[in-house]
Amino acid sequence: MAKYDVKSSDASEFINDAEILETIDYGRANSHNRKLIIDILNKAKKARGLNHREAFVLLSCEEDDLNEEIFNLARELKHKFYANRIVLFAPLYLSNYCVNGCSYCPFHGQNKTIPRRKLSQDEIREQVIALQDQGHKRLALEAGEDPIHNPIEYILESIHTIYNIKHKNGAIRRVNVNIAATTVENYRKLHEAEIGTYILFQETYNKKNYEDLHKFGPKANYAYHTEAMDRAFEGGIDDLGLGVLYGLDSYEYEFIGQLMHAEHLEAKNNVGPHTISVPRIQPADDIDPNDFDNSLSDEMFEKIVACIRIAAPYTGMIVSTRESQEMRERLLELGISQISGGSRTTVGGYGSEDDGNEDNAQFELSDHRSLDEVIDWLISMDHIPSFCTACYRKGRTGEVFMSIVKEHGIGNICQPNALTTLEEYAIDYASDKTRLDAERLIERELMSIPSEEVRRKTVENLRKIKEGQRDLYI
Ligand code: SAM
Ligand code: SF4
Repeated sequence: MAKYDVKSSDASEFINDAEILETIDYGRANSHNRKLIIDILNKAKKARGLNHREAFVLLSCEEDDLNEEIFNLARELKHKFYANRIVLFAPLYLSNYCVNGCSYCPFHGQNKTIPRRKLSQDEIREQVIALQDQGHKRLALEAGEDPIHNPIEYILESIHTIYNIKHKNGAIRRVNVNIAATTVENYRKLHEAEIGTYILFQETYNKKNYEDLHKFGPKANYAYHTEAMDRAFEGGIDDLGLGVLYGLDSYEYEFIGQLMHAEHLEAKNNVGPHTISVPRIQPADDIDPNDFDNSLSDEMFEKIVACIRIAAPYTGMIVSTRESQEMRERLLELGISQISGGSRTTVGGYGSEDDGNEDNAQFELSDHRSLDEVIDWLISMDHIPSFCTACYRKGRTGEVFMSIVKEHGIGNICQPNALTTLEEYAIDYASDKTRLDAERLIERELMSIPSEEVRRKTVENLRKIKEGQRDLYI
């Protein structure tokens, strides 16, 4: 039987089933162990993170007052590392051709009802211009796996097209990529194409369940999928985004698996994940979430976000428009640092007449607001919407980024860049109301830049942006 080894290259050892099951028992047995829970909370207050066992004890805690402390600590840590900044992005679906058999996704190879579509380079240009005209600067590319329709060359050509679109003041400055697990060689090509984060959701960490849910196609290979992040690292990508699809297996198993994966990346490569995503399964073309019997209550979902924030305080956390406005509002407080806005999950869904038509969508959206509405909503809650992409372009990725975040916080870097990118948005794309609200927020938030020199530089950059310059960052 495989034994737990955080540094192993073998999926069955770094995501070890026996260790996960023991951790579940340990958490359940200690759900009222006040002393242990308080000790873990005290350790967590030092903001250096927790291991999966400690974090799972917090998730299992059934003491009301201590649960309140857990949520308060998550809010505090969110504030300490991210203050009130929220980074915005949009998904861009390139192709829904797929040869895999993921039973939760309507793009699966046996779905005969969904219209299949793949964007040409001209169509990508149109889509990206529509996204730029909303104000987006950061995209997450999404594609099914299909060696004929979507080979790596197609993805690379699309990235090249996107980075080279010049249209008014618009620019996509960071392209994150969410495509199926691939080879070291292909990861190296993606790295050379200057992608931002490589995102790959594990879907479920439970091997047996994974194999039941993925009956055919390359993705059916659990080990190949689970070890993909290590291959990506070997290919030069040090900005990695983890995620599980909550609802496929028990939330306990997934929560522990997700943290074990993060610990593995840190132990093996010295760089933890850049982001952790927390999608929940949604209804779609031939998908009924009720067919999966592990649906997660809103309350437990909030606690999961809080406990991930505590366990990995310096890791970005992403929630998409799968979640409603109300849910996103609560999750932002507890730890989320990135959200999508004005999203479409259809191939070719932006800017066209059927904008909003979800017929070939990957899943139904719960938040249908425009980006401008999302921006103004964030501002109304005193969050700073940020379109910043500076770190990645200044080479502050992977280990360098993590050490900056761990040692100094990011107030003197992220705060100014959030404000200057919001200023660009306000001038170029915002409605009158959002512009006024943004200007007021920028004025107020300048004061919270810790260094006087950085503050002065930011005021100067804001002035230059008002005079017409763009893309100024620290
Ligand atoms: N094809 C690539 C893959 O599977 O890794 C990446 C793109 S896929 C479009 C992105 C993610 O969408 C999947 O990893 C999966 O977690 C998520 N997804 C699939 N079906 C979903 C559903 N019904 N509800 C919510 N998310 C879903
Ligand atoms: Fe294809 Fe990805 Fe959907 Fe699976 S989740 S069917 S690999 S697009």
